[in-house]
Amino acid sequence: MKKIMCAARRAADSVSAAAKAAGKRTAELKAEVLSAAAEKRSALVKAVSEKKTAFFAAAKDISPKNRKKIRRTAAIVLALVVIASSTPFVPVVYAVSYEGQEIGYVSSKEDAQQIIDDVEYQASEILGENFSLEDRVSVTSVISGRSAAENDEMEKIVLDSVEEIEELYGVYIDGELVAAVKDEATVDSIVSEIVAEYEEDDAYVSINESVATKFGYVPSSLRRDAVELRDMLDPENEESEYALSIKKAYIVREETTTPFETETVSDSSMYEGQSKVIQNGVDGVSVATYAVVEIDGVVVENTLVSEKVETEVVNKRVAKGTKERPSTISYGSYMFPTNGQISSYFGYRNVSVGSSYHQGLDIWGSYGQAIWAADGGEVTFAGWNNGGYGYLVVIRHDNGEETYYAHCSSVAVSVGERVFQGQTIAYMGATGTASGVHVHFEVRVGGTPVDPLSCLK
Ligand SMILES: [Zn+2]
Repeated sequence: MKKIMCAARRAADSVSAAAKAAGKRTAELKAEVLSAAAEKRSALVKAVSEKKTAFFAAAKDISPKNRKKIRRTAAIVLALVVIASSTPFVPVVYAVSYEGQEIGYVSSKEDAQQIIDDVEYQASEILGENFSLEDRVSVTSVISGRSAAENDEMEKIVLDSVEEIEELYGVYIDGELVAAVKDEATVDSIVSEIVAEYEEDDAYVSINESVATKFGYVPSSLRRDAVELRDMLDPENEESEYALSIKKAYIVREETTTPFETETVSDSSMYEGQSKVIQNGVDGVSVATYAVVEIDGVVVENTLVSEKVETEVVNKRVAKGTKERPSTISYGSYMFPTNGQISSYFGYRNVSVGSSYHQGLDIWGSYGQAIWAADGGEVTFAGWNNGGYGYLVVIRHDNGEETYYAHCSSVAVSVGERVFQGQTIAYMGATGTASGVHVHFEVRVGGTPVDPLSCLK
């Protein structure tokens, strides 16, 4: 390289000397030399021989008017001979200027054109539209001792000069270039910040889109600072076309309760209307687990992950009696023994007649009206009582409780007889210690009178 430069300088000096000798302006001569130098070596040699021929032809007849021309031609020929013979390469470089500013040197016009074509092609690709350098780039030849840059170096210099494009970190959302930043870390921190904002304890939060960065030339118009990019990607920003979506993945546990059913089984050992719980019911509980994926609050996936029965359902089992029920069997509950108004309640009372502690319930009615058995059972007493009850009926029920019906005008049953609930057993009167027509009704549990109102229904 150094050698070539020295040769070039020598050639330039020779040209200069020749030009002076010819009395012409250096610049003019330079231009001619330069245009000649652009030719191929073979063309140069050819040119030299042609000039030589012309020189010798002219020398044959040297008229005063041709002297000047001949001298000039001789100088050129001399210069060309020097160039062609003393240098193996053309010692000329081409200055590439961008908008009037010299930005570098290349070794040939072809190289310059190749670079321009490449830059235009690349810029068009980057900008997505036809890009032309047009008048921005000019190429001029210079013979000063500059060294030409490698083509790819020069291409980068030209690319860097184009204001419409810039070498930055492109921000790609789902593969689409949407912005560009100077610092790659800006993108990562914005994405982390957004994810953190939506974080939840029981959910995995992420960005639904793929966000990637790539360093390279991008349209300068896409350049954003951190605040602008944050705003552009903000999931809440409805104005932004590139607002990110928040994806949440979480597990949902769903508990389902299956109420038990009641099964009845027949039991011929029990009477009709009687029933007994054989097995208590237990509600079944099953748990299903779902993997749910939500994007911006909308469920897009709901996958059943597991299903487990936590508690098996156990049906309630009830035995129902099928044996025909004798009418005199006790139900275990009492009906009112007659129609009428209650005139005296169970318990302490102020009365002029009888005990101050009333052991039963007095129900007033008409003389001779029917008195019914409050429940089925066996008649254990039917007749006159000297203790103040007058005509009295006592029934012992199947559970051992007894009912008393007193002050009757007459009885309609006899001892040992089984009676059914509602059966007429006596008629209302005012016998024994009675101040008026009524029935004195008593319920005795284990021989002790209890409040009949608590047993009646
Ligand atoms: Zn009474």
